[in-house]
Formats: sequence, structure tokens, C-alpha cells
Amino acid sequence: MSSRHEKEKGVNVQVLLRCRPFSEEELRNNAPQVVTCNEYHREVSVTQNIAGKHIDRVFTFDKVFGPNAQQKDLYEQAVIPIVNEVLEGFNCTIFAYGQTGTGKTYTMEGECKRSKSGPNGELPPEAGVIPRAIKQIFDTLESQNAEYSVKVTFLELYNEEITDLLAPEEISKVALEDKQKKQLPLMEDGKGGVLVRGLEEEIVTSASEIFTLLERGSAKRRTAETLLNKQSRETTPEGEELIKCGKLNLVDLAGSENISRSGAREGRAREAGEINKSLLTLGRVINALVEHLGHIPYRDSKLTRLLRDSLGGRTKTCIIATVSPAVHCLEETLSTLDYAHRAK
Ligand code: ADP
Ligand code: MG
Repeated sequence: MSSRHEKEKGVNVQVLLRCRPFSEEELRNNAPQVVTCNEYHREVSVTQNIAGKHIDRVFTFDKVFGPNAQQKDLYEQAVIPIVNEVLEGFNCTIFAYGQTGTGKTYTMEGECKRSKSGPNGELPPEAGVIPRAIKQIFDTLESQNAEYSVKVTFLELYNEEITDLLAPEEISKVALEDKQKKQLPLMEDGKGGVLVRGLEEEIVTSASEIFTLLERGSAKRRTAETLLNKQSRETTPEGEELIKCGKLNLVDLAGSENISRSGAREGRAREAGEINKSLLTLGRVINALVEHLGHIPYRDSKLTRLLRDSLGGRTKTCIIATVSPAVHCLEETLSTLDYAHRAK
């Protein structure tokens, strides 16, 4: 949505498109390119001309990042303002949406082993949104003359079941033997939000502590979501105490191919169906927010129930849709572009 559109409608949903570079394998196979990005015009074109089949479509987004865009470019142009909102005490959410293998995890985490900060706390160029956001939060909090506390939760939502990725090892082992116990229930918190009963909340005092936790939790997941809470206390010049509490949700969604795989192979059918439900409901919720519909179907999936206090109202939402430039992904690319475009 353009900023003009945003002002007119008063909606804070930004949709970005990122196209990854060709992989080594695609280069070796001389995979034809079907996606081209025009960052200046914020346009993505999909073209294919094979006998009898002509595709030529153009999509416009709030921002477009082509294959040469660096992690830093995306962060500086799209994420810094969102993290500033969180530091001001608002809830915000950043999603990565796209087919498996298109760069959701690369965008959110970056190359994991290389994302750790160096001796001076500087991040490597491959670091993604999560380490950069953590660094921005701590750098800002440390530079302010205010007390603060930061809490982290790290969970996986899979098949509409919630797994705590920060749960101590013994507990998750027991849980694995007993599937019933593994599922943590979602409960209304009585303040319009929901909470996950029994979810570990770690209080952290530095960026490197979070990196260690995330690394530990990542090992246990399939597709994961991170929630970062920040509360800071400031004293105004008049001596009053102000408490700001913001929440940043960083979400690496399930591969969007699940959404179109309707006749999934047996055994995976329910899985695909449940993943579908979360992704489809998320699309409907965002669409309802953008279109100002009276009914927002938050309750229709766990993902949207979980994020209810961070979607709509005075919050900012950013969807980063990821695609591959290559022809063999064409069908999924079009479906991702349609989905993301509908969210505008
Ligand atoms: P997903 O999480 O969507 O399944 P990944 O993030 O794992 O996809 O990316 C698949 C592969 O492509 C990884 O090897 C990753 O390093 C690489 N990749 C993805 N996006 C980029 C990018 N923008 N620049 C360089 N490499 C990328
Ligand atoms: Mg991934």
C-alpha cells in the first residue's frame, strides 16, 4: 500500500516483496528467469513466453527488493521505523511469507552461524531482521537514561499446536513422548489479548543472551515464530514515571506451497490443511483490516488469535513476501504475489 493510500485509510500494513538471487544449482542448470524487479517503481514483473503460454503480469508493492538487495538495505528501509514504534510502546509484527526455499529464513535470521555479533557488537552483512532488531532494541535502550526489561518467548506453531522452543530440555523430552502434553493451550488474558499457558518467558539483559536462546530454540523447530517483548521505564522531565511496553512479533511462516497443495499426499493432508488454515486466516484478517470490514476473523486460527493484540488498531504490520526468480517456481511465485497483493 502506498503511503498516500495508508494515510487515506489509516491502515498500517506494509507489504514488501523480495526476490532472491539464483541459487548455484539454478545457475548451473541455466534456469530461465521469469521474475524481474524494478525497485524504483516498486514493481515486480512476471513474464513467460513459451509456445501457447504467455504470462505477463506486473504487481506493485510498498517496496521491492531485487536479488542484489542486501540484508542491511531491507532492514534500514523497512524495519527500523517498525522497531522505533515498538520502542515507543506499540505492538508490531513482521511476517516472512513465501514458498519454501525463497528466503524467508534468510530474511528473518540470515545465515545463522554468521549472524552472531563480533567483539564490538557489530553484525555481519548476512545478519537478517531478527539479529538486527535485537541489536537496535538494545542499542537504543542502553543509550537512553531509562530502566528497562526485555522478555523473549520463542514458539513454534505447527498443525495448530504450540510448542515452546525455550522449554527446558527435560520437559520437552517428556512432552515428545506425550503428544497431549506438548500442546500448550491458548487462553484469553481478559485484556483483549491471549496468552499461551505455560510458555517460558526469558528475561534477557543483552543482545548476545537472546542470540544464545534463539540458537538453542532453533534446533527444535520446523517453522517458527519469535515474540520479543520490551518494557522500558522512563522518567519525564517533570519527574513522572512513564512505562512503555511494546511487543515485536517476528514470524517465519510455514512455506506457502501448503496453501495451494489442496490434494496433498496422504498423511500430509491434515498437516497441509492446518497450515492452510493459519495462512488463509492470516490473509483474511489482514484483508479485513485493510478493507475496514466490521468483522475481523481473528478467532479462526491459532496464529491470528495469538497475534490479535498486534494486528490492527495502533499497530504496524509488515509482510515480506519472498519469491525465486526462476521458472520452475513460477506457479508458486504467482500465488505468493497474489496473496501478498491482496494484503495491500
Ligand atoms: P525458506 O526459509 O523460505 O525456505 P531459505 O531462507 O532457507 O528459504 O533460503 C533458501 C536458500 O537461498 C538458502 O541457502 C539461502 O541462504 C539462500 N537465499 C535466500 N535468499 C537469499 C538472498 N536474498 N541472498 C542470498 N541468498 C539467499
Ligand atoms: Mg525457512
